Amino acid sequence: MKSRSREGNTRFRLVLTLGLAVVLPALALIVVSFQHVKSIQRNKKVEAIIHRDFQYVLSTSAKKISSKAVELADQARACFPSENDSDDEKRKKFELLLQNSPWVSQVVLFDARKGVVFESQPGSMSEKEITDANKMYSGWLGLEGSFLVGQMRKKNKPMTWFSGESVTPNGPVYVTTAVFSMPEASGEHPILGVVSFDSKYLKEKFFPELLTELTSQKFSGDPGGDEQALHELSPQESEHQDERLAIEVYPADAQKGEPDRPLAVSPGWSGGKPEVNYTLDDPFRGLALGIRFQGTTAEAIGRRFVVQSFLILGVLSLLMIGGLVLTYRSVNKQVALARLKSDFVSNVSHELRTPLALIRLYAETLELGRINTAEKKNEYYSIIRKESERLTALINNILDFSRIEAGAKEYDFRETDIAELVRTTLDSYRFQIEQQGFALEEQIDPGIPAVTVDREAIARALVNLVNNALKYSDSEKFLAVRLYRDKSLLKLEVSDRGIGIERHEQTRIFDKFYRTCDPLVHNTKGSGLGLSLVRHITHAHGGNVEVESTPGRGSKFTLSLPLAQQPGSA
Ligand code: ADP
Repeated sequence: MKSRSREGNTRFRLVLTLGLAVVLPALALIVVSFQHVKSIQRNKKVEAIIHRDFQYVLSTSAKKISSKAVELADQARACFPSENDSDDEKRKKFELLLQNSPWVSQVVLFDARKGVVFESQPGSMSEKEITDANKMYSGWLGLEGSFLVGQMRKKNKPMTWFSGESVTPNGPVYVTTAVFSMPEASGEHPILGVVSFDSKYLKEKFFPELLTELTSQKFSGDPGGDEQALHELSPQESEHQDERLAIEVYPADAQKGEPDRPLAVSPGWSGGKPEVNYTLDDPFRGLALGIRFQGTTAEAIGRRFVVQSFLILGVLSLLMIGGLVLTYRSVNKQVALARLKSDFVSNVSHELRTPLALIRLYAETLELGRINTAEKKNEYYSIIRKESERLTALINNILDFSRIEAGAKEYDFRETDIAELVRTTLDSYRFQIEQQGFALEEQIDPGIPAVTVDREAIARALVNLVNNALKYSDSEKFLAVRLYRDKSLLKLEVSDRGIGIERHEQTRIFDKFYRTCDPLVHNTKGSGLGLSLVRHITHAHGGNVEVESTPGRGSKFTLSLPLAQQPGSA
């Protein structure tokens, strides 16, 4: 009773330690992670981070687009004629400029004193349109030229831009025009240069090429910006960085009325609404950029992340529960083994003490010379011999067991007449068997060939099985030993009609220290080592041991040893 409660305490302490040291922290971690993922789901954090990154990508893209346009305008400006050139020279320079700059649709040099020199791409305008354009420029710049120069000086900007949609017979087109003051210009006599971008070039080349370049790399988020926020999330939460982007350019004011009229789109833009917009400033005032992922949305990525995280947490929880169950079972096993060991020590001490006490008692009685009859004396001698044999058998079992445990057990295999070995072993026990009231049925088939075995070990296995049959029989005292050949196997069977063994215990009885729960077993002396030795011995001979048993009806143990195969040493 005491040992059971100590065992319970040990188990409780182990489970408590396990709970406090491992399970609680792991559980807390899982719960906190679960809450974290829940809050990410609730506050749409993944989407928010993606949208913020989108905003960053669009702002840098807008900067690149505008600096590219300014660069082109600067290139054109560098090729402008000077005010001192003759009108012919000016035209020639303009023609060359237009020829080399396909992005330019019109160029104008306005000199307040000398008037307007206008040139457009050859064949792009009718005579009338050219005359109208000339008039328009001289009227507009004549009126506002000085003001424009003053404005540019004031703002310290070399250029000013006029952009927007203009309606043509083919529908609305987007144009942008750079106006800059020439170095010779003064406040009273402004000299201005004008470069108009070709709307077709913008739509078909300028924007598509830039957008392709801008979306050619995988999305890498905001490197210089709010990195802290990015790192708040785990690597999977930033997994959107592997997605490809698609960007469109569209008229900013058309967005409300007609959202699906992009001016240009990057490859992979499959229509639909952009997730984030960015309104462009000069030189493309009136346009906006829109961004989204190719083939997915920030919401889908957020959803995927949440599902993945929950799955991972689920798997982790299952692993933890699995680990817990395994640990609990192994703790139970260890505790049970510790109990078996302590039972073993008390069983063995008891087993040693009883024969020793008997030997001592009978030896002392004989010594005192009080026994007179030879018959009585013989009885006492035989008791002393039997008890010392029992002691020897027990000590041999223990020694064998300790050798096996240390891996030092060696077998001495020799060619043996096993029928003779079984017979002589039984003969030395016959008296004891019969004295205990057992009917012994011995059946040894003739013509059993010689086998290579360790005589002593096989005899010990047989003695252990016979002893068990004697110990674990109550009402019906019957013991049968059979030796026969079954194909290539030699079978040694020991059966009894004793208490039998429950089915669930039939494999465990071969474990060291194991004894069944039957009350008769507990009232019988034993160490729980016999069958584990029997199993070890048969395995060492390349054989096997099996049990068939019905509780209350008896048991049959069968050793199978191979006839042909030479056994190996264990
Ligand atoms: P021990 O007999 O010293 O307890 P063993 O290893 O020989 O140890 O046997 C292990 C257990 O198997 C026994 O305690 C008993 O419960 C059970 N057992 C062995 N042989 C028999 C048998 N012939 N009939 C019923 N139970 C048996």
